[in-house]
Amino acid sequence: MTRREWLQSNPPPKAAGALRTLLTQLEQENTARQLLETNKRTYAQHVAYWNQESANARALGDMVKMNHANAQLADVQAKIAELDRQLAATAGLAARIAALQTELAGAAKCPVHQTDLLRHKNRPDDLFLCEIGPHFFLWTKYGDGARLSKVDLNKPMPDLDGKMDWI
Ligand SMILES: [Zn+2]
Repeated sequence: MTRREWLQSNPPPKAAGALRTLLTQLEQENTARQLLETNKRTYAQHVAYWNQESANARALGDMVKMNHANAQLADVQAKIAELDRQLAATAGLAARIAALQTELAGAAKCPVHQTDLLRHKNRPDDLFLCEIGPHFFLWTKYGDGARLSKVDLNKPMPDLDGKMDWI
């Protein structure tokens, strides 16, 4: 069995570094979404206010005031409709963040520093980088399973298409 074949049946964990970048983006989107929700609550108060103003003006027979209140009401309702449209577009955001956090918990971490590992760009198949070391870890066979092993830079990297014998 070659290393490449072995990797197909023993895929390495995802690199936490890449997942965390995505998570940060989603969390920023979620912060923006929360602002929309705050705005919506504020506009809902405006709706209550202009509804009351309109009713008061109607009771007094003040058509000018009532028309003004109704125009304000329509304006606020249009703003709420636009906010609802934007909120609907990002409705799945919280679930995506939760799923990503679960994925991140199972992602590759440096066995020494317990920090995020990055995929090595020159060898994304099975080589990971810890920026703190900096040091490298290879996803490789260990007993019947697999684990991250520190790379000895004095040895050549095992060939992906060579026989799987590197521990
Ligand atoms: Zn490390």
